[in-house]
Amino acid sequence: MKVVVVGAGVAGCIVARALSKIAGVEVICLEQVEADDHSESGTGLNVGPNGVKALKRHSPELAEKVLAESFLWNSWRTSLTDGTELFKVQMADVADNPGIRIRWSELYRVLREAAGACVRYGCQVTKVGYTDPAHTYLEYTQGGAAQRIDGIDLLISCDGRYSLIRQTLCGTPEMRHVGVSILRVLVPNTSGGLIEDYEQWFNGPNRLLGFRVPEDHVYLSGAFPIEVGKPIPEEMKTDAALRKFFTPESRPPSDQCKWLIDTLCSGEVDIHWSRLQESPTLFRDPGGRVMFLGDSANGMVPTLGQGATQAIEGACMVADLLSAKLKAGGDAAQVPAWVAEVEDLRRERIKFVMEFSLAATDTMLPGADVVAGTRKKLERPFIEKLERLYRDISTYPA
Ligand SMILES: Cc1cc2nc3c(=O)[nH]c(=O)nc-3n(C[C@H](O)[C@H](O)[C@H](O)COP(=O)(O)OP(=O)(O)OC[C@H]3O[C@@H](n4cnc5c(N)ncnc54)[C@H](O)[C@@H]3O)c2cc1C
Repeated sequence: MKVVVVGAGVAGCIVARALSKIAGVEVICLEQVEADDHSESGTGLNVGPNGVKALKRHSPELAEKVLAESFLWNSWRTSLTDGTELFKVQMADVADNPGIRIRWSELYRVLREAAGACVRYGCQVTKVGYTDPAHTYLEYTQGGAAQRIDGIDLLISCDGRYSLIRQTLCGTPEMRHVGVSILRVLVPNTSGGLIEDYEQWFNGPNRLLGFRVPEDHVYLSGAFPIEVGKPIPEEMKTDAALRKFFTPESRPPSDQCKWLIDTLCSGEVDIHWSRLQESPTLFRDPGGRVMFLGDSANGMVPTLGQGATQAIEGACMVADLLSAKLKAGGDAAQVPAWVAEVEDLRRERIKFVMEFSLAATDTMLPGADVVAGTRKKLERPFIEKLERLYRDISTYPA
């Protein structure tokens, strides 16, 4: 049985690690960057309680390693940029365990180390196709040399939002833009204790977000509306424009927001820019021998911090399912049935998470009533959904 995982990111590492422990299964994971190259992963991220719960259930040992590099995410507070508090929830009230705050590079480092020798670094996949109805092949480059793998029984595409595997086999997914620009930076924590757990601050629909991550850095994100489907105008990226977006008009910014705005507009930060977008969900190719997992299956808006969280949740479930099937003596002929089972177990969950993430973006859209919209999130319908998001995880067995 030959399994190839493309991409040693969040999902790919978890699945490759689990499958490489199973006797009789050949697992190869191809990753385009070098082992210590985290240049594409500059910022921090928050992993929701559901991701942590799924990881603990799948592998307490791996969860412990990730937690050792994290701070706990215990609360979520939303205020106006003048400091007026609108919303506060404690994770203990809506989840079975806290989430975590971690540097993206550390999450990758821990997961890649855990995946071990099955990962081949510096291997960029350039081509994929079918050799026969039951097998795929891949072409990739390693150190400038062309390489090929034939006879793949199961191909797991964990190559992220712009997946080459998905584009080649199933067409380029049509991205749905929401009309919101998002910036992210990671900066040393010079706030003097002002920034700690997960918080958001609104000035109209313009939103700042920040929290502290190890080793004493602050992950800072800013968002503001742009025209739907259009690039972010260059004039919106200047320090003066950013300062205006987040500074309240009639009152001074709170101490927290003053520090965030001054830091962001210091001219000394390396900003990562992107736009809020989502892609249609797709879990497998028509033949069912190629599985899409993580962002390649379900690119979602980042509003609830569920991108990496769902990559973890989904990968843990897939790793448990495939491990159980393989240990029970399942063979390559059953691959399409397993892939279809994954889709059945994930479809409704991902639909819920993506719809909820999009709906929670309401206060970031032009003309939003931020005060009413945020206070509404304290009411039962939103809180119930939050509980469902954080407590219910995809599992195998279901
Ligand atoms: C700046 C930023 C901040 C974010 N913050 C959060 C957050 O706070 N919380 C959260 O839950 N999510 C967050 N996300 C989203 C999250 O990072 C993704 O949802 C998550 O990484 C998806 O995991 P994945 O395993 O599907 O893909 P990735 O982690 O993106 O991994 C894909 C891997 O595939 C490799 N690859 C791609 N193409 C090829 C190829 N052709 N050949 C070989 N290898 C290839 C890549 O190098 C990469 O290692 C953030 C995203 C960004 C950009």
